[in-house]
Amino acid sequence: MSNVRSNSCKPREDVSPIDPLHSINDPDDPYAVATIEANRAVFNLWRRLANHVNAEVDCDVNYAALVRSTGLSRREIERNLMAMTTLDELPSLRAHQQQLHLLDMHRLRAIDSALAMADRGYFHELDERLTSYLTATRPGQPLPTARAIAKRIKALLDELDASIATDEEEPELPSATYSMRINDDGTADLFARFDAPTAAAIDARVRALARERKIGFAAAHALLVTGEDKGIKVNLNLYRAHDVPDAPVYFPRAGWLNPVRAQEWLTKSATVRDLDGVAEFSTDAYRTPERLEALIEGRDGVCRYPGCTVPAEFCDNDHIRNHADGGRTEADNLAKLCRHHHNLKTSGHLRYVLDTVTGHVIWLLPHGQWLEDEPEGPLSPDSRRWVQTFVQRRDARNERARARAQARKQARDELSEKTRDTPDQGGDATGGGQDEGDVACPWSADLLAESDADPQAEGHAEEADRPDQPVGVGQ
Ligand SMILES: [Zn+2]
Repeated sequence: MSNVRSNSCKPREDVSPIDPLHSINDPDDPYAVATIEANRAVFNLWRRLANHVNAEVDCDVNYAALVRSTGLSRREIERNLMAMTTLDELPSLRAHQQQLHLLDMHRLRAIDSALAMADRGYFHELDERLTSYLTATRPGQPLPTARAIAKRIKALLDELDASIATDEEEPELPSATYSMRINDDGTADLFARFDAPTAAAIDARVRALARERKIGFAAAHALLVTGEDKGIKVNLNLYRAHDVPDAPVYFPRAGWLNPVRAQEWLTKSATVRDLDGVAEFSTDAYRTPERLEALIEGRDGVCRYPGCTVPAEFCDNDHIRNHADGGRTEADNLAKLCRHHHNLKTSGHLRYVLDTVTGHVIWLLPHGQWLEDEPEGPLSPDSRRWVQTFVQRRDARNERARARAQARKQARDELSEKTRDTPDQGGDATGGGQDEGDVACPWSADLLAESDADPQAEGHAEEADRPDQPVGVGQ
């Protein structure tokens, strides 16, 4: 597919308002039209700059000229140029971009860096699937964020290429993990770096204490670290599908854990809650029971107002249809909203509805506009599919390891057959290679057949009470 040129970002004549378009392509929204205009101008600038780069000339010379022209840093220039070069390797997506100009440079850079580990052999498939992902299927669809696009690319790579593991890097902690800097104005900054789950657990305690005592986060942090306050009990939910053997574990905010970290945190869990059936639970009582709360947190991930990133565990449970008006306390009538967006909703400025099948939330704005929000938590249908794919991918990788090990064993057997009087090399009766396959392959073969058996999010939450305490401490 070659360049499909569009010399205008204005709504195409052939697009009627009911055609599926992303919300930022809405021809009736002047700000959306201006956004596309800006995207187009910036994209065309970088198109020109990318063409201007002279391969014969040293990089630094090229960059110096571009720094002068654009006022941007060398690093920004390099990242933008790389993003443009990668887009050239994705002809469908490039044509889509040149037609609609949906993607800003931030998203294009996210695509470039997410694809950095991809084998070029998969680019054709990745191109088609990424283009389809970024093509609207319903009117007013929200454009995925840069983060969501990167996450989708990672999931595609996980699915397509069994030879790489995008998510299982061993924890790599930098050597300098802690420092303090005294400032001129009598303040000081503390820096500390942890693995993400540890940081998320500390942050949860800081926020809980700040909320309870109505003090700032830094003050709460100081009280905890100096031991002046023992802190309050914090529940952290870890999520894991129990119908998928060896399913990965999700730690809120830190994301999917590698197996080493997962084991570490699971041993700290004091309580295991099975969330099966909780989706059907319903009560007249106002208060949300803990299991139901764990389910909503796991579905929503963050506040359900589009673009809001307040983690679900710090959000209120909002009754979509007010409890006072007969709204029940049940999964289909509850959503996580941060205090600010909860207040906006309660004051009647905004209304929303929940699509109970997909978990999508549609916000109704004044003047008849609407905004859509997709659930981000580990129990959302999208994450559920990812879990299945993850297991299939590990299965496929293990199959390959087993096949290689079996080939080695066979080659060794043939060799010893030929040189019968040569002393045994040792270990090939059970086969070192065979072991590799067995150890790495705890999955049963029929797993593959189970994929997508139940698109509904299922799983259970394992609650780590006082997560920084040793195993078994808790209720
Ligand atoms: Zn919010």
